[in-house]
Amino acid sequence: MVTLALFNKSPSLIEALRNVEDCPVCLLCKEDLEYFYRWYFNEYYNDTTWIAKILDSMGFCSKHSWDLIRKGKDHEMSLVYEYLVKSTIVKLERVSEELKKLELNKSRIRKVINNKHLKEIKKQLQPIEVCPICKSISERTTTWIENLLMDLKDQEIKELYLDSYGLCMNHFNLALESAPPEAVETLIQKQTEVLRKINSDLEEYSRKRDYRYAHEPKGEEQTAWIRAIKFFVGKEL
Ligand SMILES: [Zn+2]
Ligand SMILES: [Zn+2]
Repeated sequence: MVTLALFNKSPSLIEALRNVEDCPVCLLCKEDLEYFYRWYFNEYYNDTTWIAKILDSMGFCSKHSWDLIRKGKDHEMSLVYEYLVKSTIVKLERVSEELKKLELNKSRIRKVINNKHLKEIKKQLQPIEVCPICKSISERTTTWIENLLMDLKDQEIKELYLDSYGLCMNHFNLALESAPPEAVETLIQKQTEVLRKINSDLEEYSRKRDYRYAHEPKGEEQTAWIRAIKFFVGKEL
């Protein structure tokens, strides 16, 4: 089965930690995603396994669908979506046929049975899998977080981590779930430092909104709100 794991050509965790502009896990997953898109369009979009995945998830999630539209892959996506559209028409026709078979009867018991059947029939139109890109990103995220937690046992990496951007809150919360006690301490220490800095910038922004200080030159506090949002949500993946 093809997953993002096969495209593990991303820069190492160390490199990602040295980049102080973004969450290292976000950076690594973004790299993985770019590799994935390249490989998917080069070889896998018409592979039967991948077509089956797309049918199970009934396409990609909203975010990744718009990513694909922006990429302008007209030939590739025409082929993939022809499969999906055809498969959905078949499902709709099947559901319509099954609905016709439901006995129309006013009795209470019949109504209860019909409602149960109706639920099952309609289920056929629902996706049975999540977006395959989201799924792969989630798998890669788990791997990178495991790597980070393992590497944090090393004093040098720990120092590098404390000097890094830190994890976005999304990845921080995921990391906390499986972090051993020593790592929890490091993670919390870093998170607190970053949030304190953002907090002081946000306070500075508010202060300069006051007419008494509004004449003061504007600085990095002007973009503190963007940094705050970014820190909570991470990179767009
Ligand atoms: Zn992140
Ligand atoms: Zn997705």
